Amino acid sequence: MAEQNQEVFESKPRVDHPVKSVRVLNCGRAEQHTEHRFGSRLPRLWWVFFGRNWVPLPLQCFLVEHRDGLVLFDTGIDPEILSNQGYIKQAIGRFLLPRIFKFQLTDRDRIDHVLASVGVAASDIRTAVISHLHFDHVGGIAQVPQADLLVSDREWAILSEPHPEREWILRDHIEIPSAKWRQISFAPTDDPLFKGFDGIHDVAGDGSMILLPTPGHTAGSISMLIQQDGWDPILLVADLTYDAALMEKGIVPGVGDGATLLASFAKVRALQDRLPNLTIVPSHDFSAADFVARATGTASQPGSMAP
Ligand SMILES: [Zn+2]
Repeated sequence: MAEQNQEVFESKPRVDHPVKSVRVLNCGRAEQHTEHRFGSRLPRLWWVFFGRNWVPLPLQCFLVEHRDGLVLFDTGIDPEILSNQGYIKQAIGRFLLPRIFKFQLTDRDRIDHVLASVGVAASDIRTAVISHLHFDHVGGIAQVPQADLLVSDREWAILSEPHPEREWILRDHIEIPSAKWRQISFAPTDDPLFKGFDGIHDVAGDGSMILLPTPGHTAGSISMLIQQDGWDPILLVADLTYDAALMEKGIVPGVGDGATLLASFAKVRALQDRLPNLTIVPSHDFSAADFVARATGTASQPGSMAP
């Protein structure tokens, strides 16, 4: 539940504009079961095997052009997951994957090619914030070996738990020698804007990109708040919800921990009470590009997709 009588905050006035642009990058497309996207009272394995209704799912990540360098929010999927039979080492994973997702991917969906299509060299990415370790968010880390990869320490801990691959966290594609992983822990804050969150992490040190723990989809999932004078604040929530309207209605998807998801929804809603123009942008929402365009007062970008 959102707390009552909350003070409404204006976006903090900023003397300068450290963020030049926020772009939604189209990293391919898939389909998922309706039960996966909209939730279901049926057990997960039931809809995995017997669910017959599929809905399209865009795979998207985000590029933030910050004064100090280019920041990716997630890195998309590696199209090799379709072409390389050995991409998933565990037989059970190889068996289940096509029963959970139908992918439409080509080589053009690899992050370096996606970036090139918007005129950016992958080698210019300075930082990649990894919302969580699912394969469709870390698939491009090999293409940005120079970038610091920020991941929450709680998410990283999943790698040491038994069978992370059962949660679609594929160690072989995460613990690669070239990857510059940086685990972050959230610092306590007395900023009333972030009341309820278990700390914050300020990516650039200027308040323009604030990471917030929003667990539930996975134990260490994070969101990123982008704030800049003249824009509506943007909260990139990754997979906390597949669709902003579903979170508004309190509908949790068919995966993740329901109670933890609802607790994170409540924190985000409380943040929204304090920042009334807060724009929630899920990674798998077809409207992501429109949401970002509206929040930043720009025309919808070439990277955007129609459903
Ligand atoms: Zn995910």
